Amino acid sequence: MDLEKFIRTVPDFPIKGINFYDITTLFDNKITFNYIIQLLSKRYESKGLDKIVAIEARGFILGSALAHSLDLGFVPIRKKGKLPYKTISNTYSLEYGEDTIEIHVDAINSNEKVLLVDDLIATGGTAQASANLVEQLNGQLYECCFIIDLPELGGSKNLIDDGHNVYSILSLEEK
Ligand code: AMP
Repeated sequence: MDLEKFIRTVPDFPIKGINFYDITTLFDNKITFNYIIQLLSKRYESKGLDKIVAIEARGFILGSALAHSLDLGFVPIRKKGKLPYKTISNTYSLEYGEDTIEIHVDAINSNEKVLLVDDLIATGGTAQASANLVEQLNGQLYECCFIIDLPELGGSKNLIDDGHNVYSILSLEEK
């Protein structure tokens, strides 16, 4: 399926110069939503995964549907101050601005095999920081999975250079 034509691009959002890839148009369409979950379920079934770890907020939509489809646990990584229990945190640079993310200290047990998911990888700062949180909890990071990779921004290459497996459904050149 040509998923790219179902993605809405919004120029200059949230700031001038950013071409925003709006994936709500993939999720509000039952055919594309189902296609994505089926595709990823086939890729990750029988891999011995324990949990899906997903990044706030759009990663939750993908991550929770995939966790349910694969009969796995779901772990949220959230922006600072949102998780109620004890957390560990990481601060990182974004394509636009800076952010801090957190995970509950007991969300991943030692050696649990996890898949990290988010909607999109740009500079890779968010995914790097998230991978680091998984590793701090001694989780075994099987792969980092995205719907969209923007390879020109170098994030996926950085993750691979750091020794992580990376998979994205679509690789889009910035126009
Ligand atoms: P980065 O840390 O630069 O890889 O940015 C990834 C995170 O920011 C993901 O959670 C995306 O949802 C969001 N993001 C960054 N750039 C874009 C973009 N051009 N379009 C849509 N989402 C973006």
